[in-house]
Amino acid sequence: MNYVASVLFLLSAVGFIFGLRMLRAPATARKGNMVSAGGMLAAIVGTLLVTIDQGHFNTLAALTVLGGIAVGTAIGIPAAKLVKMTAMPEMVALFNGFGGIASLLIGWGQTQEAVAHASNLAEVEDKLIALTGGQPNVVTLATFLAVLIGGITFTGSVVAWGKLSEHLTSKPVLYPGQNVVNGLAVLGSIALGIWFTMQPDQIWLLYIIIPLSFVLGVAVVIPIGGGDMPVVISLLNSYSGLAACAAGFAVNSPLLIIIGALVGASGLILTRIMCVAMNRSLGNVLFSGFGAVSTTGGITATGEKKEARILSPQDAYFVLEAAQSVIFVPGYGMAVAQAQHAVKQLADLLVKNGCDVKHVIHPVAGRMPGHMNVLLAEANVEYDQLAVPEDINPSMESVDVAIVIGANDVVNPAALTDKASPIYGMPIIEVHRARAVFTLKRSLASGYAGIDNPLFYLSNNSMVLGDAKKTIEALIAEFKAED
Ligand code: NDP
Repeated sequence: MNYVASVLFLLSAVGFIFGLRMLRAPATARKGNMVSAGGMLAAIVGTLLVTIDQGHFNTLAALTVLGGIAVGTAIGIPAAKLVKMTAMPEMVALFNGFGGIASLLIGWGQTQEAVAHASNLAEVEDKLIALTGGQPNVVTLATFLAVLIGGITFTGSVVAWGKLSEHLTSKPVLYPGQNVVNGLAVLGSIALGIWFTMQPDQIWLLYIIIPLSFVLGVAVVIPIGGGDMPVVISLLNSYSGLAACAAGFAVNSPLLIIIGALVGASGLILTRIMCVAMNRSLGNVLFSGFGAVSTTGGITATGEKKEARILSPQDAYFVLEAAQSVIFVPGYGMAVAQAQHAVKQLADLLVKNGCDVKHVIHPVAGRMPGHMNVLLAEANVEYDQLAVPEDINPSMESVDVAIVIGANDVVNPAALTDKASPIYGMPIIEVHRARAVFTLKRSLASGYAGIDNPLFYLSNNSMVLGDAKKTIEALIAEFKAED
């Protein structure tokens, strides 16, 4: 039976590695998800077989595991099916949080089991080693890390969920000396962890470390603005992987170590990609309180009101009808309007009209990495029509029309020109250099960064105001009427 379990663990690890690899491209992402889910199933069955083999299996344990799977499935499937695309980042935040608390419970539960088996506290470490087959100090250090990182991930993720879903204020919550207080709390928990590692019989230390980790999770996320929550979520995703990896060392499970390391590394890579896409350092995201700025609402520094040109979909149609090359630039508003299917229909009509069409996706458009890719894939947009800013920016002058669909910050030219702007230095899709720009949104309001967009007032830009889906449907109707 142990042999079968080992094969299942190997298949599980391979499933996770290949599944993750397949998630890299929209064409293979769905299959990648299924392959990873298969890896998870193999891991659960393998674990049950090992428990039976080691004689730890009993009816209560079986019912607990099967009950957990049943409850998790009953909550997980409807939650994943019912969640709105725009609420996906919140859901990912909760998933990370559950991953963190699971690791904390593994570390805590195992220590409790060792305490129950020990005749006195001095025996706790021996019992921990006997239970796991791990090395002295390594098991206790790993237990401490699983508990600390798991706890931080749990409450940090709950705060991130609260900020994104607006159950909590999305503004940074700042107070004087905050970084010093947080730094001291981190140093304090590390000191307690070293103490616990050296003297695991001091079991009471865990009862301080657990609440401290919960407090730390809240303390490190509240000073970060809602606009930066997606970066925080991907960092917390990495933490949940590190906590799982530590839990793997604590229970001496190579599979948990591999999977935790994969999640930890991929979360870190994603965090880095997002920081590079915004031209900001991780330190700036975590400690600068970005998002505390407010917009000037279309008023210049001298108090003069700026004017934007407003165009109707009917007038926009005449320009589009004659265009030879059109780019679509989707943003968060496309997700809100659920306009992706209409966008695909309009793109097809333009191609039929002899036009070259591309959908240009900025890495931080929307509210999570890959947000726009997922929406466009759902609408079956051809992959060869997808482009990244570097593909299009150099030849932007030859683009006849750039249609900006509910994107704002990612096309804001202030990122290139205004040194005082909070998004200065962020690479953008430079639609302002196209021959004509149609900006589809409901008003002249600012985007997520809360700052004005000078694009709206440029002579080559026209605002087509209204819900993006309705506007695109109106354009489609014009094309069909001419057929
Ligand atoms: P923005 O959030 O800047 O702007 C979205 C715009 O959509 C709003 O200005 C809004 O204007 C418009 N909108 C909302 N609903 C509709 C609707 N129904 N129809 C038409 N328009 C609508 O979006 P971007 O995608 O350009 O930028 C993403 C922002 O999120 C950036 O600041 C980025 O740094 C940040 N971010 C994203 C991350 C990611 O992973 N994707 C990570 C970290 C940060 P109006 O209300 O007038 O309609």
